[in-house]
Amino acid sequence: MRLHIDWTACDGRGVCTELLTEMLTEDDWGFPVLRNGDTVPPPLDGAARRAVDRCPMLALRLVT
Ligand code: SF4
Repeated sequence: MRLHIDWTACDGRGVCTELLTEMLTEDDWGFPVLRNGDTVPPPLDGAARRAVDRCPMLALRLVT
């Protein structure tokens, strides 16, 4: 799976970066930045799904 961020929808409040710290960090404005690409390692599947489910702007999506 890959994690897709819709930049037109994201408001940069950083919920996802708190829930998925292994994959995401924040830039200077609070917007998420992928640490090492968008591929979700299998052990992080659950955390990635939680981040997607809790994004208030529906800006995150998992793509297979
Ligand atoms: S939780 Fe959603 S809206 Fe908030 S920073 Fe992450 S992608 Fe953007």
